[in-house]
Amino acid sequence: MHFSKENVLVTGGSRGIGAQVCRVLAGFGLKVWINYHTSIERADSLKVEIEQAGGRAAVIGFDASDDAAFVQACKTIVEADGGLGYLVNNAGITKDKLALRMSLDDFESIIHANLSSAFIGSREALKIMSKQRFGAVVNVSSIVGEQGNMGQANYAASKGGILALTKSFALEGAPRNVRFNAVAPGFIDTDMTQTLGADVRAQYENAIPLKRFGTSNDVAHAIAFLLSDSSQYITGEVLRVNGGLYM
Ligand code: NAP
Repeated sequence: MHFSKENVLVTGGSRGIGAQVCRVLAGFGLKVWINYHTSIERADSLKVEIEQAGGRAAVIGFDASDDAAFVQACKTIVEADGGLGYLVNNAGITKDKLALRMSLDDFESIIHANLSSAFIGSREALKIMSKQRFGAVVNVSSIVGEQGNMGQANYAASKGGILALTKSFALEGAPRNVRFNAVAPGFIDTDMTQTLGADVRAQYENAIPLKRFGTSNDVAHAIAFLLSDSSQYITGEVLRVNGGLYM
């Protein structure tokens, strides 16, 4: 796959899907800005790993749901590299509870962490990329954003919101050749899904037509495609990476 621009920022690049996105995009020759929030050591060792493999990487710590911090990070990147070609809004967390027991704070904190962060990043990217008349953003949603899930009213709402947000930004970005797409992963093997019990995991595996959880690599390659020149006529789209669990 070919990429017209040189650099990418990946929020939540320190672990899981985000870390694999960094590896894959560095492999395609991009300079990768690895964002972390708390896992500085994981981010630092990923940078070393990418550089040892011949790639280019930089580490940048900030809370992706902090407006001023995200704005400053984008400024830092543009000052260092002269622009920003691509952004992956991947940072996300869960705080699962049945809705009857979910406080407003439980709900709003997840909306803030997952949806507000994607909004801030998309807005800043649109500003920078509009001037360049080129850019691409991928927002990481979830199967749960389309299907809903018991115990995840907060997370599902945040991920459904990401789909609507992506389409709205796609409309605003299109006249300036800035594309916005989303991926909606199903069940992917990362720290986030380690909390599932063996019996629940087996039930899901049985229900997934491809009969396995996805890997971070499965998602990373879908994201790479949506950023690359190979998808230059695709915007406002949702690419499901779920083994056929939801079609
Ligand atoms: P993970 O292994 O738990 O990693 C989460 C990442 O998000 C970490 O790098 C973490 O950084 C970062 N993060 C969290 N809050 C942040 C913040 N405020 N600012 C910056 N970074 C922040 O999760 P994952 O499974 O890779 O998930 C990545 C994305 O995919 C999330 O948006 C998640 O909702 C989505 N997703 C995952 C699955 C799945 O089955 N795993 C399915 C569908 C969608 P630090 O460690 O540095 O704090």
